[in-house]
Amino acid sequence: MAVPMKQNAGVPAGLALLHDPLLNKGTAFTLKERDALGLRGLLPPHVLTQDQQVTRVLANLRKLSDPLEKFVALNALHDRNESLFFRVLCDNIDEMQPLVYTPTVGLACQKFGHIFQRPRGLFISANDRGQVAKVLRNWPYPAALIVVTDGERILGLGDLGANGMGIPVGKLSLYTACAGIDPQLCLPVTIDVGTNNSALLNDPYYVGLQQRRVTGKAYDELIEEFITAAHEVFPGVLIQFEDFANHNAFRLLAKYRDRICTFNDDIQGTAAVALAGIFSALRVTGGKLVDQQILFLGAGEAATGIADLIVSAMIAQGLKPTEAKRRCWLVDSKGLVVKSRSDLAEHKLGYAHEHAPVGDFLGAIKTLKPTAIIGVAAVGGAFTPEVLAEMARINQQPIVFALSNPTSQAECTAEEAYRGTGGRALFACGSPFDPVQFDGKTFVPRQGNNSYIFPGVGLGAIACGATRITDDMFMTAAHTLAHLVTESDLAQGSLYPALPRIREVSAHIGAAIADNAVRHGLATKPPPGDTLKFVESQMYSPQYTEIA
Ligand code: NAD
Repeated sequence: MAVPMKQNAGVPAGLALLHDPLLNKGTAFTLKERDALGLRGLLPPHVLTQDQQVTRVLANLRKLSDPLEKFVALNALHDRNESLFFRVLCDNIDEMQPLVYTPTVGLACQKFGHIFQRPRGLFISANDRGQVAKVLRNWPYPAALIVVTDGERILGLGDLGANGMGIPVGKLSLYTACAGIDPQLCLPVTIDVGTNNSALLNDPYYVGLQQRRVTGKAYDELIEEFITAAHEVFPGVLIQFEDFANHNAFRLLAKYRDRICTFNDDIQGTAAVALAGIFSALRVTGGKLVDQQILFLGAGEAATGIADLIVSAMIAQGLKPTEAKRRCWLVDSKGLVVKSRSDLAEHKLGYAHEHAPVGDFLGAIKTLKPTAIIGVAAVGGAFTPEVLAEMARINQQPIVFALSNPTSQAECTAEEAYRGTGGRALFACGSPFDPVQFDGKTFVPRQGNNSYIFPGVGLGAIACGATRITDDMFMTAAHTLAHLVTESDLAQGSLYPALPRIREVSAHIGAAIADNAVRHGLATKPPPGDTLKFVESQMYSPQYTEIA
């Protein structure tokens, strides 16, 4: 049998081409390409355009009612034809983001072993100790960006072990869709050290190591080997930590942030998106950041990350560090975080102020009279009617951010927030909510989603070859995002730009990050000429190009 000739160096032909998701165009291969690439007869004769393919995918997807079925269908498309998958995502980001990422990805991770069809990304297990570089070399593409999880704290769902792979995969899809980072440069990694989730250990279809988590020295050595090997195999690669539990997330960030190009999106990306939302809210209230009193429900990665960036922003606006810290208060599962408590983890200590103990969130609101409450405890329904009524009583326009994911974990719905405050809340959410009609007005709540921030940060860092990702860059990202919110966004209660503008947003953030890196001597490849134009020129576009 004659083997079809390769037409372009590195481009496979025939069935191998149809089975290569990075190059496959399915029925959109032109007749010329079919002849040149040995595809004649391997495809049905009717040639479709990419637009027609998009319409067909959307029609099929919209016939499905179950989000998990939609997730599986999109995953299958991702495995078949990346350009088409990303065209569908980019052109319909409002509809697709909740399917490829939160909230559906949470469900997909819970059922990962049951819906598993094809592997994506790299699983590095505790059994790979001593040969992690070899495992990384099995990856056939030149990674510039790794998203890595150990699956111990997946969204608000806890320890999902190796099932957590859905998170780096979904997140990297957003890097490509939202900021045009070439899919070839994206590597999802799950470090599988076991799981302490007994339901998974008893599940015959669980995909990971059937053991309890490796901890302590052995865990640290595996992570260290991974970080070192990743830099050996992919020099300069940006490594984003994702969904690690508190006890590892803070320490790993502290350990590696001054050594390699890395960040933790749960801590730093969340902080930037929340700060941008507060800047927007203050444009409505006319208040100053330094006058805000902010109360968090939750004292984990998101809460302390946001608080730290707010404190930095307050200091930049003239407050002393001690004064700035006293404007941020945390409530955890035991009540208000105060100095007299002896049970506090290290990351909470900076916000343990002198104050009498307060056992509950409503009590803390009554005592502290916050101007803003930010829910990041993954306790669904915690912003009760009483909490919202009290916020509305003490503030003309209370800032209410219910950021916990997935939707079942949200502190309140958008409807509850607007109704509970007589339509006066400046509201942002972690999970998507539909517009709300209240008192003759339509409110359009928008997600304080990290996807406004991390794709642009990654884009800028890769474009300029950044050697580090600093907190100052996240502050820059927050300012850039806030400036892109329009007056008409604010008029309808939206504290973030419309999601379909996401590629524009990411390009601006990318340019701001690259400029910041150059200013601080952290760019190995300073962009030539106009930074925004250069960054835009680096963005992958999911349009087909002729390959014959
Ligand atoms: P985490 O595990 O680090 O922190 C959770 C915190 O909640 C802990 O401090 C815990 O003590 C506290 N907590 C638990 N039960 C509580 C209770 N009953 N009352 C008060 N506090 C309680 O998790 P995280 O990374 O901080 O994320 C928390 C939530 O925020 C998750 O649902 C996550 O999905 C969400 N999140 C949303 C965004 C976003 O929308 N942009 C970003 C990051 C995280």
